[in-house]
Amino acid sequence: MSLADARHWVFDMDGTLTLAVHDFPAIKRALDIPQDDDILHHLAALPADEAASKRAWLLDHERELAHAATPAPGASELLHMLRDRGCRLGVLTRNAHELALVTLQAVGMGDCFASDDILGRDEAPPKPDPGGLLHLADKWSIEPSELVMVGDFRFDLECAKAAGARGVLVNLPENPWPELTDLHARDCLTLRQLLSG
Ligand SMILES: [Mg+2]
Repeated sequence: MSLADARHWVFDMDGTLTLAVHDFPAIKRALDIPQDDDILHHLAALPADEAASKRAWLLDHERELAHAATPAPGASELLHMLRDRGCRLGVLTRNAHELALVTLQAVGMGDCFASDDILGRDEAPPKPDPGGLLHLADKWSIEPSELVMVGDFRFDLECAKAAGARGVLVNLPENPWPELTDLHARDCLTLRQLLSG
């Protein structure tokens, strides 16, 4: 099946549907997390009270970012084209569900997703774990191979591969991970053109 015929699409949010605003090195400095560590994995390994206060700081910080979110070029047009074709659309993000809703609303994409098709860090294990994609495939009663995962980072592509889904990379001028990628488009504007060709 060609990607243009795919009917089930899952999007990363930050840096894919919105322009990247997270300053991860600064977040790690503020939370006293080594620069080489994964933020969510690091927090998960902390004692409960320390993890809770750091999670609360992260949520506050991300809430400010959510309200100031900017759409990525062509992302809204791409989503609306897919929606108008009758595609099922989901989001798999390492952000929090509640902030994903705020963010998507702020960038005019809130009407493209059912709330429970938006999986955040409390609804699914963080990418590259394929759990979120497998959950959506099960929920939508399809095979994971029918899913397309669109993202801007290696984790998104690794997640797709581990689930047996297809991976599309956007928002990078070059593709550093060709072995993980089924399609690379410079941005969502280009992806939309490729899918309507
Ligand atoms: Mg991203």
